[in-house]
Amino acid sequence: MSTKYTIPSEWKSAVDGKCPRCRTGNMFRAPLLSFKSKKMYDTCPHCDLKFEKEPGYFYAAMYVSYAFVVAELVTACVGTYILTGNLESPWLYLSVAVAVSLILAPFNYRYSRVVLMYWMTPQFKFQERYFLKGK
Ligand SMILES: [Zn+2]
Repeated sequence: MSTKYTIPSEWKSAVDGKCPRCRTGNMFRAPLLSFKSKKMYDTCPHCDLKFEKEPGYFYAAMYVSYAFVVAELVTACVGTYILTGNLESPWLYLSVAVAVSLILAPFNYRYSRVVLMYWMTPQFKFQERYFLKGK
């Protein structure tokens, strides 16, 4: 058996936004820090996995995204309090919350889908034969 290839780890593939089944094809058309980062492929360019496995599948990503946002806002507000010690102005916290939500929106959008596909969808398990396809 040849060992000329190494299978990328689950975490690395998830962070890179690779297809959960083959860990080779990209899920998104553009890198995270790009204005086009919202665009997702319909199917994996490498193994042809249909990402939206059923209509409305990505609605579930909203719950993941919600959990992300709550965690980020709590962190941001605690951080703001630690840095400024402010307990008077609700506007400070509101501004921080809005800024954090806007800045992290592309991140939340992308990684809520990644988490959904990697860890909440058993059908999308990694399969070595798809990874090896074309290698
Ligand atoms: Zn794939």
